[in-house]
Amino acid sequence: MDKKELTGLGESVLLHTYNRFDMVLDHGDGMYLYDIDGTKYLDFAAGIAVCAFGYNNKTYNDALKAQIDKLVHTSNLYYNEPSIKAAELFCKASGMDRVFFTNSGTEAIEGAIKLARKYYYEKHGSADSVIIAMDHSFHGRSMGAVSVTGKKAYREPFEPLIGGVVFAEFNDYEDVLCKVSDKTAAIIMETVQGEGGIYPADKVFLQKIAALCKEKDIVLILDEIQCGMGRTGTMFAYQQYGIKPDIVTSAKALGCGVPVGCFAAVEKVASAMVPGDHGSTYGGNPFVCKAVETVFGMFEETKILDHVNEIAKVLWDELEAIKSEYPVVTGHRGLGLMQGLEFSIPAGPIVKEVIKNKCILISAGTNIIRFVPPLIVEECHIKDMAACLRKALDTVTAGSEK
Ligand SMILES: *Cc1c(COP(=O)(O)O)cnc(C)c1O
Repeated sequence: MDKKELTGLGESVLLHTYNRFDMVLDHGDGMYLYDIDGTKYLDFAAGIAVCAFGYNNKTYNDALKAQIDKLVHTSNLYYNEPSIKAAELFCKASGMDRVFFTNSGTEAIEGAIKLARKYYYEKHGSADSVIIAMDHSFHGRSMGAVSVTGKKAYREPFEPLIGGVVFAEFNDYEDVLCKVSDKTAAIIMETVQGEGGIYPADKVFLQKIAALCKEKDIVLILDEIQCGMGRTGTMFAYQQYGIKPDIVTSAKALGCGVPVGCFAAVEKVASAMVPGDHGSTYGGNPFVCKAVETVFGMFEETKILDHVNEIAKVLWDELEAIKSEYPVVTGHRGLGLMQGLEFSIPAGPIVKEVIKNKCILISAGTNIIRFVPPLIVEECHIKDMAACLRKALDTVTAGSEK
């Protein structure tokens, strides 16, 4: 089938939940992706902050191939070595005590919500808890995750959702505080909001929230699905705030492409869950956990965090330069290799133009472009991406003043 036939068939057989770009991606190598028509793209999206080591990494591929030949799946009724090793590595990296592996980010959120509710239920003997979530947040697409997601358009058509959720303004401590009651089981937020437009938590805000949670025995759930796994320059973003949550959720770069996520908790909270409370057929099977184990090994061997901290400055300076050159750029923020540019015009047409220039960028919200490249990105790639973006901005703003 040629490209046109394939995309045509795709439009007729896939549920129409995405307006897809006219690309049929076939293979990748390092920082680059290739269309079946041969077009080579520089990738600054990493499959939405997933492929931390880019594409076709030999260490990663070899480890997964070997695991396929050994054992792909077995039940959670039995132990398997990769899941135990992956859990140990996750605990060491995050400061958590126990891990439950899931198949996605949204399921990690489901598990975190269930665990926080169970902890409250054990403590109070009643099931009347409330979770405080943040405006502009994104936590996934399943019913529980949608229920704590701050964007009304993602929630409203699917109501009634799970009850017992109230929303507070992100980075507004007083607003959170006035929503807290003795029924508050948990406060959930992304350490750096991704989908909502790349908004890092203010340092003082998050520190005050962590202190409040400790004082009132409220479970602090930090969603590190997008901002975790080294993206911001530390293994987890909260490690730059001098605080520790009670539950962490992870996914995206955790397995660098195989479907795996997890929620992890400190012992005090984790011990609320007992056999029968939660489960998953696939969750934490040997294949995906081999990926997690391998990814942690690669983080260590390649000292990728040092690289992220250095290269993030290069990206920051380049985006600052673009901001000063183009008045349509109205904001620039982020942490590490998770940065966003805000525009006074819609981001969609800019992204389309950038793709025409053979570079892949993604938007976040209607007028923000987010930069979440593979962590292996080098200065030359940043220069190339910036050239594609400048050219696109020249085209999009042609006729009007820049
Ligand atoms: C992507 C994302 C999710 C959902 O993960 P899925 O694997 O798509 O279910 C949840 N929270 C955050 C912060 C995310 O970026």
